[in-house]
Amino acid sequence: MNFYCMSLFPDIIKSGFEASITGRAVEKGLLSLTNVNIRDFSPDKKHFKVDDYPYGGGAGLVMKADCVFDAYEYTRDTISRYWGCSEAGNRTRVVYMTPRGETFSQKKAAELAKERDLIILCGHYEGIDERVLEEIVTDNISIGDYVLTGGELAALVVMDAVSRFVPGVLGNDESAYTDSFGDGLLEYPQYTRPEVFRGKQVPEVLLSGHHANVEKWRYEQKLEITKRMRPDLYERYTKG
Ligand code: SAM
Repeated sequence: MNFYCMSLFPDIIKSGFEASITGRAVEKGLLSLTNVNIRDFSPDKKHFKVDDYPYGGGAGLVMKADCVFDAYEYTRDTISRYWGCSEAGNRTRVVYMTPRGETFSQKKAAELAKERDLIILCGHYEGIDERVLEEIVTDNISIGDYVLTGGELAALVVMDAVSRFVPGVLGNDESAYTDSFGDGLLEYPQYTRPEVFRGKQVPEVLLSGHHANVEKWRYEQKLEITKRMRPDLYERYTKG
């Protein structure tokens, strides 16, 4: 899967994405990241200004429509050239990271992972001129009801969660689906060696080697943890 990330701070995206599991997947050719620096598309070749005062007054600055649109056209054309098909770029979904978007979820991550290419747009300052958003954005995603300085950290959250669903990225392809939320419940508790830590013993059943009993115990734990920690999820699960 190929991510194209349009932002003003590509270094944040690069350092976050090219570490750990996603970094290894990039090395294996399962994922790719192309950073597009919106500042490179500023018509102001002296100060590379990409923002201006909001019409109507008010605090902060707004990212200009022309810079974002030119960065988008460049990204779209790069995708089309890569696939040798002028439609490839036009068809690519553009996800804008924004507090007003749909709250990101494991379900949305699995859905986006089916895309071959994905463009992610990060705002900064007070956000982006509405007119360019209307032109290019297909999906608006929020990572929660709070406001970040910029969309880069939010984009990394989305890219990481989506990557887990790309075949081969995780050691065991099943795990993205058996993780928390996969079946509507939170995951069971995990343990590793030693068997006793500060007087606390690993649950006996996990040492028994009895596969069916382990599965039963894990399912009961999932129910219990979800009921205790996320009663909203538990209610949805039990009411079907
Ligand atoms: N003025 C905007 C508002 O009140 O909704 C907030 C702008 S915020 C300071 C700058 C950028 O950070 C946004 O354009 C968006 O890309 C990103 N951002 C902030 N909070 C976010 C969130 N919860 N989820 C996703 N992106 C977010």
